[in-house]
Amino acid sequence: MKKVARPRVVIVGAGFGGLAAAKRLSGKAVDVTVVDCRNHHLFQPLLYQVATAALSPADIAAPVRSILSKAPNVRVVLDEAIGVDPLQRLIELGSGASLEYDWLILATGARHSYFGRNDWAANAPGLKSIEDATAIRRKILLALERAESETDPDKRRALLTFVVIGAGPTGVEMAGAIAELARRSVSKDFRSITPHCSRVILIEAGERVLPAFPSSLSDAARRSLEDLGVEVRLRSPVLDVGSGYVQLGNELILGRTIVWAAGVEASPAAEWLDAEHDTSGRVFVEPDLRVSGQERIFAIGTPPMLLGRTAVRSRPSLPSPSSRASMSPTSSWGTPPSPSNIETSETWPRSAEAKL
Ligand SMILES: Cc1cc2nc3c(=O)[nH]c(=O)nc-3n(C[C@H](O)[C@H](O)[C@H](O)COP(=O)(O)OP(=O)(O)OC[C@H]3O[C@@H](n4cnc5c(N)ncnc54)[C@H](O)[C@@H]3O)c2cc1C
Repeated sequence: MKKVARPRVVIVGAGFGGLAAAKRLSGKAVDVTVVDCRNHHLFQPLLYQVATAALSPADIAAPVRSILSKAPNVRVVLDEAIGVDPLQRLIELGSGASLEYDWLILATGARHSYFGRNDWAANAPGLKSIEDATAIRRKILLALERAESETDPDKRRALLTFVVIGAGPTGVEMAGAIAELARRSVSKDFRSITPHCSRVILIEAGERVLPAFPSSLSDAARRSLEDLGVEVRLRSPVLDVGSGYVQLGNELILGRTIVWAAGVEASPAAEWLDAEHDTSGRVFVEPDLRVSGQERIFAIGTPPMLLGRTAVRSRPSLPSPSSRASMSPTSSWGTPPSPSNIETSETWPRSAEAKL
C-alpha cells in the first residue's frame, strides 16, 4: 500500500515557544523537525543565578533530545537556520544542508541589542545564554579574587565596582544577586574584602526601575535593592562604555565588571523572510500568529517576534539610542499572551515554562 506523505512541520528554535509547539504536535499526524543551534533548552529566567554562582549551568539546561524523546513523530536537528526560501519551502542551514517544510514555525527568540553601539558588547556582556552567564560569573569571581590581594586602592575600588546597565527585570535581578554575592556571601570567605568594600550600581535612563510594572512595584523593588546596598541611578542615560568604565553625563564610573541588561531585539527571522518588521526586528503577525503575507509560516515566542499590527501601528516611536540605553524596552515579563490579547500585548510569555 502506498504510504501517504504526512505534512512536514519544521520548528526553528527549542526555547519555550518552540518546545511548547513541538509538544502540542507530539503524536499528531505530522512529521515534526525541531532545529536549534544549541543542543539544550535553556531556562533563561534563572540565568542570573548561574551568572552569580548560585546555580550551575546544568541546573538550568536540559538536552532538547531528552525533552522530546517521548514524541515519536518529532526529530531534533542540531544546526543553525540561516535563511528561509518561502517559494521553495526550504530552510537553509549553517551546515550547508537544507530542510523542506510544509509548515514552518519560527521560534528563534531574541538577542542582545546595543542600539547601534555593538562596540559596547565586548566590555558590557549581556545575559542570554549559558556562555554569557559563565563569562559574567568568571568576571565577577575573578574581580573579587584580584581585589582580595590588590594593594592599590584605586585598582581595588574598580575591581569591587559592579555596574549593571538597564533596570528592567534582568537588570534588577542581576544587581540584586551581585549585591548578595559581593556584599554578603563573600564577606565570610575573604579576609580583606568586607561587605562595605563593594559597590553595585544599577543604571537606568528612565524615571524608575521596572518601568513596565506599576509604579508601586517599581518603588518596592528600588527600596529592596537599596536595602541590599545597590546604588540605583535613575534618569541616567549611558553615553559610553569602554574597558573598565561607564560614562554617564559628566560622571565616569570605573568598574571592572559591567553587565548589559538594557535591551534585546528579535532574532533575524524578519530578514530571512524580507518581512515587514519594526525597528527591533519584530515581524508583524496575524491573530493566528501567521507572519503577515506568509501562508505557511508562523512566528511564536518572545514578543520581539510577536507583535500584532494594531500594537505596532499604535506604538509611539522609540526614543533616541542614548536615552534607550538603559530602558530594557522588551524586558517586561507579565501576563501570558492569549489569542485575544496577542494583538495588543507586548508582554513576555510566562505560560510556556509551566507546561514544560
Ligand atoms: C536573564 C533573563 C531572565 C528572564 N526572566 C524571566 C522571568 O522571570 N519571567 C518570564 O516570564 N520571562 C523571563 N525571561 C524571558 C523568557 O526567558 C523569554 O520570554 C523566553 O525564553 C522566550 O521564549 P522563546 O521560545 O521565544 O525564545 P528563547 O527561549 O530565546 O528560545 C529561542 C531558541 O531559538 C534558538 N535559535 C535562535 N536562533 C536560531 C537559529 N538561527 N537557528 C536555530 N536555532 C536558533 C536558540 O538557540 C533558542 O534555543 C527572561 C529572559 C532572560 C534573558
